[in-house]
Amino acid sequence: MGTRATLVTYDARRARALARLDRILEALDAAERELSTWRPESVVSQLNRQPVGVPLALPRWTCDAIREVSRWHAETRGAFDPTVGRLVAAWGIAAGGRLPAPAELAEARRLTGLGTLHFDARTCEVARARDVEVDTGGFGKGAALDRAAAAASDGHPWLVDLGGQVMVSGTPPDARGWQVLVAHPEARDQPVLGLSISRGSLATSGGSERDVQVGGVRVGHILDPRTGRPASFRGSVTVWHSSGLVADILSTALFVMGPAEGLPWAEAHDIAVCYLTSEGHGPRTAVQVQASPAFARRFPDRRRLWPSVERIGYFPEGRGISR
Ligand code: AMP
Ligand code: MG
Repeated sequence: MGTRATLVTYDARRARALARLDRILEALDAAERELSTWRPESVVSQLNRQPVGVPLALPRWTCDAIREVSRWHAETRGAFDPTVGRLVAAWGIAAGGRLPAPAELAEARRLTGLGTLHFDARTCEVARARDVEVDTGGFGKGAALDRAAAAASDGHPWLVDLGGQVMVSGTPPDARGWQVLVAHPEARDQPVLGLSISRGSLATSGGSERDVQVGGVRVGHILDPRTGRPASFRGSVTVWHSSGLVADILSTALFVMGPAEGLPWAEAHDIAVCYLTSEGHGPRTAVQVQASPAFARRFPDRRRLWPSVERIGYFPEGRGISR
């Protein structure tokens, strides 16, 4: 999926540890074969080439992932939409960014929307009602992590890091958890938050380094399917969830919503999310940390490693508790 995987495990028996890593790699590879659009022969790549109106039978695992994605598409009121492929192409997200002409943008919007994918959750068949393109960039890694977790689980500690999303089980020997660092939204090498986890997954969306300016418009890699335009939030969003797939979906969806819409939503859904917003431009600036109550409860020992102001819950500009 265009990223690098880091695997860690501990075991008193070397052969058993290596066998576990092998099972994890095999699970990641199996997930790639189904979901990766970097592989022309994957299930999703086949779906994107499938003639319009002709159903394709999905393997059970992909079917389960699409079902979960559909559920969160509805729950996030369309902020998360896996059919953004045409919009991603129109804005040239993978090719340095560009501004689409109005007619092109209108056409890309017509070919976007989960409603244009007819999915029968019972038979696991899916048909494209229009020439839409499924983009797994916002949820594929999380789904792969869940698959790896199911393959790994034998009670011994492990961690898998898929370029920005981490999933763990258990704790390293003599430690209370795995330490995960969340970076400054404008400087990947500058840690701002130190979090300790012993289960579940942490996913971060955003960080400006992949964003580009085109003709005065900032083209970020996350789009708001409701407007067809790049999401306007500048900063990063980190979500913890017991499911890697849900953490991945929601970090993207909550980025689209931005803190003003996302924090009340997260509070209503009891989701652990944290927004980092730079209080100016550039890597040296202080950071505002806005966490949902579920996030604050899950990480009581969170460490702040950079000058920052923290607020729990949503408060309009300039108000609210900070510490
Ligand atoms: P992530 O880094 O997990 O937030 O995923 C970002 C990737 O998901 C982008 O590079 C696109 O491929 C895709 N994407 C962009 N916007 C959306 C969206 N609103 N819903 C679902 N996927 C998206
Ligand atoms: Mg995501």
